[in-house]
Amino acid sequence: MDDLGCPRCKTTKYRNPSLKLLVNVCGHTLCESCVELLFVRGSGTCQECNTPLRKSNFKVQLFEDPSIDKEVEIRKKILKIYNKREDDFPSLRDYNDFLEEIEEIVYNLTNNVDIENTRRKIDLYQNDNKDTIQKNKVKMTREQEELEEALEFEKQENEQRKMHLQKEEQLQQMLKRKNKQELLDQLETSHLPASIVLAQHKGKSSKIEMHIEKPKPLKTVTFSTGIKMGHHISPVTIPKVEEALYKYHPIQIETHGPAVPPIETLSRQGYLNHVRATAPQDLAGGYTSSLACHRALQDAFSGLFWQPH
Ligand SMILES: [Zn+2]
Ligand SMILES: [Zn+2]
Repeated sequence: MDDLGCPRCKTTKYRNPSLKLLVNVCGHTLCESCVELLFVRGSGTCQECNTPLRKSNFKVQLFEDPSIDKEVEIRKKILKIYNKREDDFPSLRDYNDFLEEIEEIVYNLTNNVDIENTRRKIDLYQNDNKDTIQKNKVKMTREQEELEEALEFEKQENEQRKMHLQKEEQLQQMLKRKNKQELLDQLETSHLPASIVLAQHKGKSSKIEMHIEKPKPLKTVTFSTGIKMGHHISPVTIPKVEEALYKYHPIQIETHGPAVPPIETLSRQGYLNHVRATAPQDLAGGYTSSLACHRALQDAFSGLFWQPH
C-alpha cells in the first residue's frame, strides 16, 4: 500500500486515502493534482519518459501495476484494428497465427520493444485490410444490437408473465371472496341443514379453483443464453472411459548423498532430543514432532549434497 503513490509529489495512498492516481498512454503514473499542475495547457510531456501526452488521455489507474493499465488500453486499440474473426481465415492455424501476432504487437507496444517497426506493421495491416476492418466493425455493432434486442425482449416477456400471474392471483382472490359471501348468504336463507349446505359448497368451490386457468405457455423465445424457452435438454450419456486406476507411489527424494534417516527411527537416534514436544492440540491437527524434524533433516541433506548439473 505504501508504495502506491505519486512519483512526483510523493503523496501515497497511505497518507492520503482519497489520492486519485491517473495513468497515461505511456504507462506512467501521476496524481490528479500533479496532472492539473503540469498539464495546465492541455498537453505536455511525461516526466519519466518524455512521451508527449494529452491531459485528456489521463485515466484513473485501475490496477496496482500501471503497466497493466497501459496494456489494457493498447489491447483495446489494437483489437479495433485487428478485428478479424475465425471465419475470416482459411484454417485454424492461420487464425492462431493472427492471434499470436496481436499478442506480439501488444507486448511490443506495452514494453517499448521495437516500437517503430511495430507501428509501421500496424499501419501496413490497417491499409491492407481496410475493407475487412470496416466490415467486421459493422458486424460487431450489429451483433451487439441484436443481443441488446434479445435482452430487451426477454425483459418484456418476464414483465408480461409477472403481470399475468398478478391478474390470476387477483381473480382467484375475488372468486374466493365471492364464494364465501355466497356461502354466508346460503346459510342465512337456506332451509337445508348447515352441514348439507357446507358439503354442497365444498364441491362447488373446488370446481371454481379448477376453473382458473394456468398461465399460458409463452411462445418460444431464444434467451441470451442461447437456450430456447421450454426446451428440455436431454441428459447425454457420457461414455465411460476404461483406464487404469491411479496408483500412489511414495515420493523418492534424491539427495545425492547419505540417505535421510527414516521417520520412524528419529526418536531412537536422538534427533528429537532438541525438538519441541507436540502439545495435545498439535496432535489433533495431525502434527507430530517427528514430521517437522524429518522435514528439516530432508532440507538439510538436500542442501548439503545437491549438485547443479
Ligand atoms: Zn503528485
Ligand atoms: Zn511516461
